Amino acid sequence: MQNSRPRCYSNGQARAPALHFQGGCKIFHLVAPAAAGGRAGRPVRLRFANLDQIMLLKSYQLEYCRPPNPGATHLRAFARLEVDIAEILPHLNTVLRGHLYMREPPSLTIKYQAKLITFHPQEIAINIVKDQTEAEDILAWLQGVINDTWARRETITPSFEVPPKPHLLEILKLLPRTNCRACGQPTCLVFATRLSAGEATPEDCPRLPAESQVRLQGYLGQFQSFTPA
Ligand code: SF4
Repeated sequence: MQNSRPRCYSNGQARAPALHFQGGCKIFHLVAPAAAGGRAGRPVRLRFANLDQIMLLKSYQLEYCRPPNPGATHLRAFARLEVDIAEILPHLNTVLRGHLYMREPPSLTIKYQAKLITFHPQEIAINIVKDQTEAEDILAWLQGVINDTWARRETITPSFEVPPKPHLLEILKLLPRTNCRACGQPTCLVFATRLSAGEATPEDCPRLPAESQVRLQGYLGQFQSFTPA
């Protein structure tokens, strides 16, 4: 049997001794008979659960490339998936509060920490990562989200829409509109675009009165993107 690395072992007083381990795509539970009182040396019975029922994505292959801009210091990351996840893209849209959802060809884009992450049926693309470690951390998290969503798919309402986006004009109305550049942007409109994209916060405008700041935060708060717990 391959991949039979023990996952956990229990010989608690209240339960019969049990050894759980993974072999291939299955989880095995070795349980001593209750009638035997769980004593060592007794024959064991074997039960197994098919991992395919609870885990959709078991592996992927990560690849990287540099953007065409010669001055770019970041990477783009691509995870080639071993399975087709198209079936649960609408469920992931619900769970992750998607930024963009396409029915044909199916794809889902989310915003996460100023990055755009796009799920295709057999690929996940991340537009910006600083290094391999960051890409691996994000993919490990996404693999957990995908598998959890797959396991709970019967209880999640699939969504083919994405929440509305903030209106630039509404944001601009709440800004001083002096184009003073104190925020580091050339105009209030550019700053409003960055606010809309979640790349700036109202506090980044030093000329914004406190009352306008509260109103702006309230307006933008309706469109907050997904934040992992
Ligand atoms: S600091 Fe505020 S008022 Fe000045 S340009 Fe930026 S957004 Fe506009």
